[in-house]
Amino acid sequence: MKAIVIGGGIGGMSSAIALEKAGIDVEVYEAVQEMKPVGAAISIWPNGVKCLNALGMKAALRELGGNMAFMAYHDGATGVPLTRFSMAPLVQQVGEYPYPVARAELQAMLIDTFGRERVQFGKRVIQVEQTADGVIATFSDNSQATGDFLIAADGTHSVIREYVLEEKLERRYAGYVNWNGLVTIDERIAPADQWTTFVGDGKRVSLMPVSGNRFYFFFDVPLPKGLPQDRSTVKADLTGYFQGWAEPVQQLIAAINPDTTNRVEIHDIEPFSRFVKGRVALLGDAAHSTTPDIGQGGCAAMEDAVVLASTLASHSLGIEDALLRYQARRVERVKDLVLKARKRCDVTHARDPAVTAEWYQSLKNETGERVLAGMCETIEGGPLG
Ligand code: FAD
Repeated sequence: MKAIVIGGGIGGMSSAIALEKAGIDVEVYEAVQEMKPVGAAISIWPNGVKCLNALGMKAALRELGGNMAFMAYHDGATGVPLTRFSMAPLVQQVGEYPYPVARAELQAMLIDTFGRERVQFGKRVIQVEQTADGVIATFSDNSQATGDFLIAADGTHSVIREYVLEEKLERRYAGYVNWNGLVTIDERIAPADQWTTFVGDGKRVSLMPVSGNRFYFFFDVPLPKGLPQDRSTVKADLTGYFQGWAEPVQQLIAAINPDTTNRVEIHDIEPFSRFVKGRVALLGDAAHSTTPDIGQGGCAAMEDAVVLASTLASHSLGIEDALLRYQARRVERVKDLVLKARKRCDVTHARDPAVTAEWYQSLKNETGERVLAGMCETIEGGPLG
């Protein structure tokens, strides 16, 4: 059996590794010549970590992950702590650590695990067709690839999604802009072993430790879509949006490198329930695009990969039947993640300022129990428990 995987991102590479482990031949085709992920880092929650462990990357991932032993919220303006608690009860309950990692390093780990020389870069799919017993992908250089089935992991702007759904979906702007990057750890800004977040006015500033003595930082600001993007004004823009905020936030703005700071207008896509058309299956952001508010988009792609491979390996009624079983096992799970993230997004970014004010107030009484219970529920809903 031979799979064609389109897209060499988190979803494509995780599925290539998973399918190969299940004894399936795999070819990976990636549009760009060089991978340049849109974000500086991501948090891999234990549901995603368990998938990477199962795919043989347990030791490699631990080398990349930061130590997020504590979690804290501060009032953005005053810097006063609202709550601080240990992540140990979460680790205890779900049986695995969360790992914030630099994206370029995660991407390299996935590609190297599969075999860098085997990923075909510079191959942009423009058309997908299928016959009674196979699939044909056509690339922009007019070359073609054939296989028994095709995994479309071509991201949130997927062209294959339109082929599968037979309609074009619009992405939904979530109402805020996110700036993110990496900076050397400075304990005057935040403790080195803590996920620290400053909140106020529907904005947030967050820092997570990754390996190599670095913080992954991000700033969220509710803003209209389509404002000009200009690297030369990043510091001035952030200084304006966070005027009057506490000293650690000002120190962070002073420390960032505008040349490596990303600016992203955050979107998601209304969940849908068709991931499969015959021998073609959507996976990762192509199937479910979420806001990053619960840090689960990439983790969900890893889950997809594990479920896809196990479904293909454990069913014998044919490829099309197995792909439909993959779809059946994923649709509700990912819908839940997208909608949970959207809800979190709205509370964090003051879609209704009264609700957000209530949340800020509730953080003062937070012992960690409620926050961690929500995270555990999300994590334990994954395919590996
Ligand atoms: P992508 O990473 O987009 O990869 C798709 C690949 O397909 C790309 O390499 C692209 O070049 C290629 N491609 C596209 N079109 C074609 C074509 N026609 N032919 C061939 N190749 C093609 N997730 C988490 O789990 N935790 C987090 O903390 C987190 N934080 C985030 C923060 C931000 C700011 C953002 C924007 C997202 C975050 N996510 C997070 C989500 C995560 O980044 C995505 O869910 C994940 O990258 C999806 O992987 P993917 O492989 O499906 O898509």
